[in-house]
Amino acid sequence: MSKDVVNFNAGPAGLPRKALERARDEMMDFEGTGMSVMEHSHRGKHYEKVHREAIALTKSLMGVPDTHDILFVQGGASQLFATVPMNFLQKDGSADYIVTGTWSKKALSEAKLLGKTKVAGKGGEGDTFTRIPRQDELSLDPAANYLHYTTNNTIAGTQYQEIPDAKGVPLVADMSSDIMWKPIDVSKFSLIYAGAQKNIGPSGVVLVIIEKSWMEKGRQDIPVIFRFKTHAEAESLYNTPPTFGIYMMRNVLSVIAEQGGLVGIETKNRKKSALLYAAIDESGGYYRSPVETASRSHMNVVWRLPSEELENKFVKEAEAADMTGLKGHRAVGGVRASIYNAVTVAGVEKLVSFMADFKKRNG
Ligand SMILES: *Cc1c(COP(=O)(O)O)cnc(C)c1O
Repeated sequence: MSKDVVNFNAGPAGLPRKALERARDEMMDFEGTGMSVMEHSHRGKHYEKVHREAIALTKSLMGVPDTHDILFVQGGASQLFATVPMNFLQKDGSADYIVTGTWSKKALSEAKLLGKTKVAGKGGEGDTFTRIPRQDELSLDPAANYLHYTTNNTIAGTQYQEIPDAKGVPLVADMSSDIMWKPIDVSKFSLIYAGAQKNIGPSGVVLVIIEKSWMEKGRQDIPVIFRFKTHAEAESLYNTPPTFGIYMMRNVLSVIAEQGGLVGIETKNRKKSALLYAAIDESGGYYRSPVETASRSHMNVVWRLPSEELENKFVKEAEAADMTGLKGHRAVGGVRASIYNAVTVAGVEKLVSFMADFKKRNG
């Protein structure tokens, strides 16, 4: 028996136990073929079935309309920071970016290397990203090639509660840290991308959902491998895809589908974040959230203790009690619990009771 660890890592993050067990059971003999799925040709019928299933599960779980293609690409979400403007920032055009944290800043700086950009909104003062700008605070360019934003800010612990209104401009979203945390209206987006390693799988795969008619407008004067159209036309089999990563994603998505789909997962996710924020808010100021209440993330809950010393002690003692990954990001400090899809309500309950106990002993 391996020990029962609650994994609060920010990414790569925990995976559903059932998805891992399935991989273990199929490891040495995938569907009676006498070898693992990793060793199959990406053009053979055994892998192809997995590939199609991962696409079909994404389509049904998220309700992806026929107007959109589902792609798997590599290079991490960070590569998409570059390939989005490479494809869609036109020579004489400009792109709008809402900057709400470290990741959107990185996305913007890649776009700046390729063309004209404008900051359409900011999530705080200077480099402290403690809130999500309201719709009436945005200054949108009606002629922008697209509007880019980050749905959940993994490091700052903020999250959009609603989809911003792009006023007819193509909307692009980095959903790396909250993809499939709840149902969303995919038709509102021209492009969604998400590294799998937080909510839906292991690292090495990026899920892309792209509006076909918009994809057609992508630039042709860039390398073939970086065009979204290349991957769409080849159904993500233009070159060798990360087959094991896609296989694992398939396993994770089938677990989500079995457990009530995205409606089921949202109920569970809201329960977890409510438990944690209540533990913070009802601690009489011992635990403090630096984030504006209306902008709080349901995926990455960040908080402070009365001193850095106590924060370090908290993280160390939690680790000793088999709760791992609670140290805040090095850029912001404090404590962060990443409570992605695979973290159970029981895992969060364990953390909440540890918080009460720690306060009693160190208050
Ligand atoms: C983790 C993360 C990234 C970076 O993903 P990589 O796959 O490491 O490139 C980008 N955006 C957000 C919102 C993230 O949480």
